[in-house]
Amino acid sequence: MIRGFKGRLTAPDDAGYEDQRRIWNEAVRARPALIARCADVDDVALAIGHAARHGLPLTVRAGGHNFAGRSLADGGLVIDVRDLDGVSVDPERRVARIGTGLRWGRADPVLQEHGLVTTGGSVSKVGVAGFTLGTGLGWLGRRHGLAGDNLLGATVVTADGAVRDVGPDGDPDLYWALRGAGTGLGVVTELRMRLFPLVRPVTGTLIHRLADAPSVLRQMVEATASAPPDFNWAAVLTTAPPIPGLPSGVQGRPVLLVPVFSSSEDDAHVKAARSIGRPVLDTIAPTDFCTFQTSTDEAAPDGMCWDVRSEWLTDLDAAAIDHAVAAMEDVASPLSEFLFRPLGGAISAPDAPDTPFSFRHAAFMTEIIANWAHGEGAPERAAAGRSWAEKGLAGLAHLSAGGPDVNHLGLDEKSPRVNAAYSRDTLARLAKIKQTYDPQELFQPPPWTTAGAAHS
Ligand SMILES: Cc1cc2nc3c(=O)[nH]c(=O)nc-3n(C[C@H](O)[C@H](O)[C@H](O)COP(=O)(O)OP(=O)(O)OC[C@H]3O[C@@H](n4cnc5c(N)ncnc54)[C@H](O)[C@@H]3O)c2cc1C
Repeated sequence: MIRGFKGRLTAPDDAGYEDQRRIWNEAVRARPALIARCADVDDVALAIGHAARHGLPLTVRAGGHNFAGRSLADGGLVIDVRDLDGVSVDPERRVARIGTGLRWGRADPVLQEHGLVTTGGSVSKVGVAGFTLGTGLGWLGRRHGLAGDNLLGATVVTADGAVRDVGPDGDPDLYWALRGAGTGLGVVTELRMRLFPLVRPVTGTLIHRLADAPSVLRQMVEATASAPPDFNWAAVLTTAPPIPGLPSGVQGRPVLLVPVFSSSEDDAHVKAARSIGRPVLDTIAPTDFCTFQTSTDEAAPDGMCWDVRSEWLTDLDAAAIDHAVAAMEDVASPLSEFLFRPLGGAISAPDAPDTPFSFRHAAFMTEIIANWAHGEGAPERAAAGRSWAEKGLAGLAHLSAGGPDVNHLGLDEKSPRVNAAYSRDTLARLAKIKQTYDPQELFQPPPWTTAGAAHS
């Protein structure tokens, strides 16, 4: 069907179409006309040419973990890069070359063989590509910046079929865009990432009863103000997972999980966090980095339906904390979560790199994740889940730093809300870059294409 194509082509009537099409979020039902699973960079260029000749909307699929399912379009051609999965490390220069088909769960162990890391996903099944080309907020973010901050260069096949070595000295505008707004501009086939030494961090989770959550969270927020960049944490309001050692009265009940991460072995802030409130479980200990990186995978299983709302926040005040805790009284399902993550450190530093990321002034990010099962009654469950997430978001409006996280856009979110994921200046610059590299808009428009963001 595409002359010279070496990988696998799958159309809706072919055997295995559903397996090739399936992504993590079962709520996404888009049915592409052709899935081109590419064997190499030449296949990518051939698939782009085919889409251009036949007027097929183009999307790119890597880890398949985008909440809104932006890797698939109805009637489109999917360039599936999952088999571009090479990874190599130059330990002297501390640089990794990572094929964009990899997920963090396969990249991290290779980096760790050299005692090296970079800012990666907090769930190991997430794709390195989508994560890095969007915000890329991970456990090492406060210490080493966002994933895009550590992107040194990339190989990109653009709409004209050219294979470009993109970096500060080659297509610098495209390089700038890739570091936080990199979808919809071409197909990235390899990422070159800066690495950092890390062998054995101190990590684990503190679990608190919901009744204690407001006081614990207020103290955690206060402690964060003076915390070093080595120290990171998150607040996850959810239903207690079946963890051994959890008191029976807490199992299956809404709780506050506080995952803690420190790249310093003797971090006074870890000790301080452990002394806040009366955790019913404390699993903090020196840990193998890759083990920690997979420790929350079970909270995001395949085969379920999801939606999300997110927002960058200027603060996390008592009203917001009380609102989030109260939301757990009518939580949509056991896997639904109300999350907060701090920024600061390298992300917010005055000398942070100039990238499309527009929220370095924010102090926290919130994600409100609704989960439901597909099958009979799914539309009602979906409506309940979405309404829970929307209500959750509405209660934080007074703290909005201006918009949502591009990596956590929901299923049905549209402009102007999605445009607010970038500042107005950033949107204007991105629109010009799109015009230069994809003037015919072959690649499905990313959220930011329409200029005129809601904030400056
Ligand atoms: C369970 C879970 C945990 C998460 N945790 C975090 C987190 O800790 N921090 C964070 O910042 N985000 C997180 N995310 C969000 C995640 O980073 C984004 O949803 C991201 O888009 C997923 O990337 P992917 O490669 O898996 O997905 P895909 O759906 O394959 O791709 C996502 C987007 O990137 C584009 N794309 C993919 N590959 C390429 C490529 N090679 N070239 C050009 N464009 C490409 C796609 O077209 C699509 O628009 C999480 C998501 C989930 C589901």
